[in-house]
This record gives sequence, structure tokens and C-alpha cells, in this order.
Amino acid sequence: MAEREENVVLFPFMAQGHIIPFLALALHIEQSKNYTVTLVNTPLNIKRLRPSLPPNSSINLVEIPFSSSDYGLPPNAENTDTLPYHQVIQLVEAAISLKPSFKKLIENLTEQQGNPPLCIIADIFFGWTASIAKELNVFHAIFSGNSGFGLACYYSLWIHLPHRYVDSDEFSLPDFAEASSIHVSQLAFTIKEADGSDPWSIFHQKKNLPEWVKSDGILFNTVEEFDHIGLLYFRRKLGLPVRPIGPVLLSTKRQARAGKEGGISSELCLEWLNTKPLNSVLYVSFGSMNTISASQMMQLAMGLEASGKNFIWVVRPPIGFDLNSEFKSNEWLPKGFEERIKGSKRGLLVHNWAPQVDILSHKSVSTFLSHCGWNSVLESLSHGVPIIGWPMAAEQFFNVKLLEEELGVCVELARGKSCEIRHEDIVEKIELVMNETKKGNEMRRKACEAMEMIENAMKDEEGFKGSSVKALDDFFSAALSMSKKTKTEQNI
Ligand code: UDP
Repeated sequence: MAEREENVVLFPFMAQGHIIPFLALALHIEQSKNYTVTLVNTPLNIKRLRPSLPPNSSINLVEIPFSSSDYGLPPNAENTDTLPYHQVIQLVEAAISLKPSFKKLIENLTEQQGNPPLCIIADIFFGWTASIAKELNVFHAIFSGNSGFGLACYYSLWIHLPHRYVDSDEFSLPDFAEASSIHVSQLAFTIKEADGSDPWSIFHQKKNLPEWVKSDGILFNTVEEFDHIGLLYFRRKLGLPVRPIGPVLLSTKRQARAGKEGGISSELCLEWLNTKPLNSVLYVSFGSMNTISASQMMQLAMGLEASGKNFIWVVRPPIGFDLNSEFKSNEWLPKGFEERIKGSKRGLLVHNWAPQVDILSHKSVSTFLSHCGWNSVLESLSHGVPIIGWPMAAEQFFNVKLLEEELGVCVELARGKSCEIRHEDIVEKIELVMNETKKGNEMRRKACEAMEMIENAMKDEEGFKGSSVKALDDFFSAALSMSKKTKTEQNI
């Protein structure tokens, strides 16, 4: 294979939901372009990433030193997995201290290679990398693993703090008229309580978003054809090139694990799915970070049982239990539930972590009950699987809005981790989507349309390039032309 040219440096925030799309992007660039790819992160994350790379991968994994205890965080807290939610912002703030080491790292790469990297692609929380890139004459982009729509709603909320000085529970985003009104129950709890002191909004207003405009553009892991409104918001707001280049997704094999053993092997899971009829299984998972309350879990179990449908449910300890605690079926689930489910072979309870992409790509799977994290949404729509939405946090509430109101591929079941939910309502939504109802059929049709949009966006054939392929080409052309200009100027 020919020697790889130019270096592309990728730098995700230290959370599974950020590292996964960055790793997918790294592999995508390695596969589709002849560039060297360097993925930077803190030592523990790099150690975890190593086994996720294919044996023949030439991606460089580079460590940047970080000691969490220097910032009042527990020792070895290099990933949000090991942190309670309220401390995540502390990790984001602490990461700003990586500035000098990151700059040094880019200088060292420049020295080793005789040229600065072609570009730096950094996380949405690492706006500060744009100043470093400017200083060192390197092309820079922010990469968002969120939807354009979800991030646009969030961005608007962050910059319009305080948000709750409105006299009704329903309000419009002042600079995002394309989105319908937001209900207070769709706000993440930090924003909801805001009296002007939400640490996330303060961080973004003061330290992060003002740096974004120094970037040379924003890349989104999304598709222009179904996320146009949100992308438009950023084009208007930032006046920067906004390029949807997705979806870039990881296969199950490459999924960086959430630090725990998977609850079931892919083989066993697929073996179980193979015994089920076409489009008969509901897959239930709330992502890598969220979990529901004990009473919600009880109702969900009762709803799944009463629905009579086949299901795979990834069960994580309910709120209030240690995330690493043993599986306590007797305490968390209705009496005899696990035995009944096992006996009837109707359900598969998976502890903590399931091979999600393999599951969603199986022909027996009909519907996904999901918290609507953007990776999960993309994985579902890539396989034409409609969604029952139960958003839990962050921009997931707005993802559901996009999916339900604009794309018609989702119905919302519940909101948040403290809402009251009745098993009868769960059964009703499952039947609405999984049965041959007018709504269910319509959702399946629209989910298949979304799948086609995704396939087209990523098509790279002789005579046809999809919108996401063109956007990534366009990004690298801009980076190459800046690099050429810099080299010419330096030679003069
Ligand atoms: N995931 C998985 N198995 C699980 C739970 C999650 O493989 O049991 C993967 C999932 O495929 C997705 C990622 O973890 O790629 C979760 O990202 P998402 O944006 O959906 O949600 P987050 O975890 O960031 O809230």
C-alpha cells in the first residue's frame, strides 16, 4: 500500500458517546482517504481504544497526559462512565487544562513529519482547540456526534440563559423559528432549574461557543436530507461551512465497550434472534449512560410482559443503585419475571451492554424502544427500524422532536427519568408501532425512506457521490487548499 500522506488529527471528549463517533470517523477517513489518522485522548481511553482497531489499521493512537485527581475528580476518572452526572461538567472544565499539552503534541507531530497536520477535528466541547489551530496554521473543524436539530435547540438554550423567565411551560426558541415550541419537560434538568446559574450554559457561553467561530467549519454526523433545519440554523448563526458527513457508524465488533463486559455475546444474541419470526422483536435500550428509576423499571417489565411481544431488553441497574452492582432480578423486576421470560423464550434480558448494531441489523427486529441518543437513532434508521422514544437527558428530547414531528419515524412514550409511567401506556405504544396499525405501517414506511436517504448520502460510486460523501470531500479540499497556501507562503 502506498505511503499515507498528510496527518488528520482527531480529538474527542472523554465520553463513550463522543469517542464512538470519533472512532467511526477515524476508520471512515482511513478507509476512504489516503491520510494518516491520529486519534488523541487520555491514557486510559487510548488503552481501551486499542483493541477496537482492526489488526491492519494504521491509525495512530496518541496519549495526552491527564491526571483527574488534580481537578478534584476521583482518581482515574478519565471517562464519564466512572462519573456521576453532576461531575461530568467538571471533567469538561478540567479538559481545558490539556491546552498546553495539545499544542505541544501538534508541534511535535509537525516536527516529526516536517509539516503541520492537514487538519484538526475536535469535539464540540473542545472549542479551545480552534485557537491553537489558528496559531499553528492548521485547518480546524468541530465534529458533532449530535444531530444538527438537537444541537441547534441546545445551542439556542445555552446562549439564551436564563431560559425559565417565560410565563408559560411552552415557549419558542427565539432564534430558531423553524423548530416548533419547546415544553419545559423537554429541558435537561440543569437548564430547567436555571436561574442564570446553569454550569453547562455558563461554560458554553463563556468558554466554549465563542471559540467555535474561530474554527474553519463544523462537521455533523448526520444527513442533509433529513436534518436540514438544524444545519441551516448553524449556517445562519455561525456563518461557517456546516457539513453533514454521516452517518459514520461502528460495527458491534468495534464498539468501544463501556468498561464492562458485554452481557451477551453477539453469537448467542443472533442465535436467539434467528429463532424469531421476521419483524417480531422489540429491542429496548437506553444507551451507555442512562438508566431509569426502579418504579419505571417495574412498569416497563410489566408492559413488556403484557404486550405479548418478543423482546431484547438491556437492563442496567436502576437509579440509586451502583452502576457496577450485580444484577438483582428480585429487587428490580416483578416477582418471577426473569424465570417466566426465560421459560417462554419470549424475551432476552441482557445485563448492561448488548451488541446493539448486530441486533438492529437483524431481520427479526421490528422496533427500537430507545432514549434517542443520536448514535442509537442513526443505527436504527440505517436499518429502517422505527423508534418508540423515551428521551432521558441532554438533546435526546429534541432528537425525538425531529424524529416524530419532521421525520414521522417515532412516537414518544415518556420523558425523563422521573416521570410516572403506566404499563398500560407502554403496551398501547408497543401495539401502535408493532402491530399492523395505520400509524405503525406509516412509521415503517418512513423509517425505510430514512434508510434510503442514509444509503444515498453515503453512496460513493462511479458517476454518483452522495451528499455526505461530497461534504467530506469538500472539507478535505478546503483543508488541502489552506495547507497548500500555508506551504507556499512559508517557502516565500
Ligand atoms: N451501545 C451498545 N450496547 C448497549 C448500549 C449502547 O452497543 O447496550 C452503543 C450504541 O450502539 C451506540 C452507543 O453505545 O453506538 C450509545 O450512543 P448514543 O448516542 O445512542 O447514546 P449515549 O450512550 O451517548 O447516551
